[in-house]
Amino acid sequence: MKCQICSSEKLHKFLSLGHQPVPDVFLTKEQLDEPEATYPLDVYFCEDCCLVQLGYAVNPELLFKEYHYNTGTNESLKRNFKALVDFAVKRFKLDNNTLAIDIGSNDGTLLSYYKEHGVKILGVDPSSVADIAIKNNIPTIKNFFNEKISEEIANKHGKAKIITATNVFAHVNRLDSFMNGVSGLLSDDGVFITESHYLLDMITKMQYDSIYHEHLRYYSLKPLMKLFERHGMEVFDAERIATHGGSIRVYACKKSTYKISKNVERITKLEGKNGLYNRKTYETYKSKVFSNKLKLQSMLLKLKKQNKRIAGIGAPAKGNTLLNYCNITPDIMEYIVETSNLKINKFTPGMHIPVVGESKLLKDNPDYAMILSWNIKDMLIPKLKQAGYKGKFIVPNPNPKIVE
Ligand SMILES: [Zn+2]
Repeated sequence: MKCQICSSEKLHKFLSLGHQPVPDVFLTKEQLDEPEATYPLDVYFCEDCCLVQLGYAVNPELLFKEYHYNTGTNESLKRNFKALVDFAVKRFKLDNNTLAIDIGSNDGTLLSYYKEHGVKILGVDPSSVADIAIKNNIPTIKNFFNEKISEEIANKHGKAKIITATNVFAHVNRLDSFMNGVSGLLSDDGVFITESHYLLDMITKMQYDSIYHEHLRYYSLKPLMKLFERHGMEVFDAERIATHGGSIRVYACKKSTYKISKNVERITKLEGKNGLYNRKTYETYKSKVFSNKLKLQSMLLKLKKQNKRIAGIGAPAKGNTLLNYCNITPDIMEYIVETSNLKINKFTPGMHIPVVGESKLLKDNPDYAMILSWNIKDMLIPKLKQAGYKGKFIVPNPNPKIVE
């Protein structure tokens, strides 16, 4: 096994979340009678470039063709993308002569904001969600981005002044082909902007449930700098942003094109201070994750012994990491309420907990409801109380607790 960025073999496995199914493929009633594929979910630290990564990559065709997440339904993501586009247009002087490309363009939400500025746009996305973008007149190539697609785009549309890849850069399986594609497609003064869930937040806020097969890498800035360097590029700016419980936005360009911001040194220093370049940090993290699992399990078992009823709220992909790792079966959690029609009347992968419409929670009023999208608990709890839910809440992370 080799590091996904630097090819080093000095990989240290520090966390195993067991064999888990693909987290975002919910099962039909019929599928419950069939065998279910699972894949190792083991996490490694590279002692050379400090990248945190999965050891096993599931075939991307299985992960992304039927993608059940569309950006246009998430208001905070929409605000983030609009701000990113408005900022990029101003800072990098984009106009109707420049081309902006979004990789993993999803339903075209991000690109739609460039339209308001008259910038030329093009999306690339392999999933079924791309059909929504195409329907909304956002030009989209329905495919995985790689070196070959990049050449085709450059021949047909010319080079791009801006390429964005938000919440997909950690998903890319063939990273070298992807990076060659990016550097080949960027104009000489072009900028490549990525947004990814940030390792520092994952470690300090106990977001271990963001580990699942779609996320092959858990980025800090230092290994990313190494990655760009290998492809004749460099990071010239970076900032922490709030999306997905804490993300990092990174700006890269061809070598010596833009002045390097002080933010780059500031953030790598912060990472060093927090031990992200030190193997010991990950051993400590592993013990904390395990102790969280034990606390949560004993809390739930105690409630079940008192004959309390427990439901779940929300069925995000990360919820399945938590349910599977902590072995929360349907005899502990009776059902999960959801708003997405793509998941309702199906069953969670692995644990097979039924997913039902949100109204059941209010009709049924179980004693406890565990919030699986716990990063938005401050928004969810008052909303559900106001809607009439009378039970208590269980918040599983960063420390399992009951909220009245
Ligand atoms: Zn490495």
